[in-house]
Amino acid sequence: MSAEHELEVLNPATEEVVATVPAADAADVDRAVARAAVAQRSWAAAAPADRARLLRRFADVVDTHIEELAQLEVREAGHLLGNARWEAGNARDLLLYAAGGAERLLGKQIPVPGGWNVTFQEPLGVVGVIAPWNFPMPIAAWGSFPALAAGNAVVLKPAETTPLTALRLAEFALDAGLPEGLFQVLPGYGHIAGRALVDHPDVAKIVFTGSTRTGREVMERCARLVKPVTLELGGKSPNIVFADADLKRAIDPFSFLDNSGQDCCARTRILVQESVYDEVRDLLADALSTVVVGDPADEKTQMGPLISRQQLDRVRSFVPDGAPALRGSAPDGPGFWFAPTVLTGERHDSAAACEEIFGPVAVLLPFTDEQDAIRLANDTPYGLAGSLWTRDLGRALRVSQAVRAGNLSVNSHSAVRYWTPFGGFKQSGVGRELGPDALAAFTETKNVFISTEGPAQ
Ligand code: NDP
Repeated sequence: MSAEHELEVLNPATEEVVATVPAADAADVDRAVARAAVAQRSWAAAAPADRARLLRRFADVVDTHIEELAQLEVREAGHLLGNARWEAGNARDLLLYAAGGAERLLGKQIPVPGGWNVTFQEPLGVVGVIAPWNFPMPIAAWGSFPALAAGNAVVLKPAETTPLTALRLAEFALDAGLPEGLFQVLPGYGHIAGRALVDHPDVAKIVFTGSTRTGREVMERCARLVKPVTLELGGKSPNIVFADADLKRAIDPFSFLDNSGQDCCARTRILVQESVYDEVRDLLADALSTVVVGDPADEKTQMGPLISRQQLDRVRSFVPDGAPALRGSAPDGPGFWFAPTVLTGERHDSAAACEEIFGPVAVLLPFTDEQDAIRLANDTPYGLAGSLWTRDLGRALRVSQAVRAGNLSVNSHSAVRYWTPFGGFKQSGVGRELGPDALAAFTETKNVFISTEGPAQ
């Protein structure tokens, strides 16, 4: 088999081959979409309560395999075991949440003269989901499960480096009794299988999570077919720390080190009021020196490897030797390791301060006052997330309103929650996932007017 036809999945902590998986090509995508279209018609015709029941059964099967899924995620993505267990549980919980939505996909009755007017939320058909490698399981679930609950079929292309948990989820769907073809996972290369999904005329919508660069291409290609998209793209999120904040909590290094910094919401721009800059720098130096980096399967480990050599090279390129920085430590030897790092000598417009690095690297930048903090926080093409820390309630409200980002947290570094909408302003994306309206993004609104006019008297 040629390299184009298979994917080699590596353990990023050891560089050992974990599995080899066939890679889908355009013909495989064609066949999968045709199967999905057939399955979708009967799925959409099923009673919502029956769809909900099957999705709950799917959640039960996932629940009995949490440990297996978590171990797979550790091996293919280098995630910490505790995090991976949480991620598998997140997929299960989202299935249960979305299942309820299937039974509550309500339309409206709108008062109009001369008759009754009602709206229906109808499924789109076959939805294509393209997932990245940073959170393979949750992001596959966020795109796919609300789409299924709304009556669609899903063809999911996971990242080439991390197809294994998604493949297991598709098997669990069949075990639970979901119709054959309704939820298919096609591992493959982005430029082959991903592109084929995007260009396919019978794929009604694309949900894409990944880099802004690829997201832009996906959006351009979808535009040719007037195909709707949900895009969850990059971020360069601020952590705004005012002098009156609880500084220790505010500078929690896991706000940018979680998942080795491979997190689109990572708070990688630490903006600190200048009067407490030195104190924050010292606190951060202490915090970094105690971070335990190593084997992700060891429960004492706090940070694992990067996903790949390519990602390691990319991260290194932002941290030249001798750059002023606070640093933790990382293992030597096989595996894609990079030490926790906070760059202290960057200008606010340098590459490290502006671009999404996607590694355990943050920049520390001072600000003078509230207006300066807002200006710096917004001085980015991204707008995904952010945190702000202050004990002044009025300021917290003003700054939350002024920062242009989709997901802000005040006096916390909260993670994504399936109960609440998630998505970005500006070049961080288009549309929202999760939350109470997640299913609506996978429907078309149909308006029907029913005349009450009787025969002429
Ligand atoms: P990409 O955006 O290229 O990949 C994301 C997904 O899109 C993968 O499944 C990929 O497949 C697929 N893909 C790639 N090219 C195409 C295409 N032309 N058409 C359709 N699908 C495609 O991210 P990378 O993996 O290259 O990561 C590079 C950078 O992107 C990271 O350093 C980080 O900054 C950012 N990123 C951001 C993420 C986020 O959550 N916001 C997630 C991942 C990356 P394949 O795996 O085969 O390439």
